[in-house]
Amino acid sequence: MAVVLVAEDDQDIAVILTRLLTRAGHLVVHRPDGLAAFEHAVAARPDVLLTDLGMPRMDGLELTRAVRAHPDLADTPIVMLSGHLHPGDQQPVEAGCCAVLLKPCPNDKLREVVQELADRGPHAHTGAACPAHHPVSA
Ligand SMILES: [Zn+2]
Repeated sequence: MAVVLVAEDDQDIAVILTRLLTRAGHLVVHRPDGLAAFEHAVAARPDVLLTDLGMPRMDGLELTRAVRAHPDLADTPIVMLSGHLHPGDQQPVEAGCCAVLLKPCPNDKLREVVQELADRGPHAHTGAACPAHHPVSA
């Protein structure tokens, strides 16, 4: 079981993700934008951060950079889930994401990536490189 922080401004998608990850055995905390998610992460230090890209106040890239820049959060595994990226887009990886999934992402793929990062646990990124090294996957 891992504590998964979900940053997602679309309430319908948030409900789906919460249900999916809860059924997979995780404890899910949802925040509706990047800033609220960051504030929660600082306070509660989740095991895995699952973030949308486009969100109000602070988007997924800004959230990822903020987490990587924070001394207590820098090693947190981060998964980005977005419908707006093109395969091969390097921005999320450069910002420090461990994995990038494109919407609609198959449920088993999402479960697998979150579980893998939860098992791996906190890990340092040297520069932008993640040792888990997931390319963008559909
Ligand atoms: Zn990583």
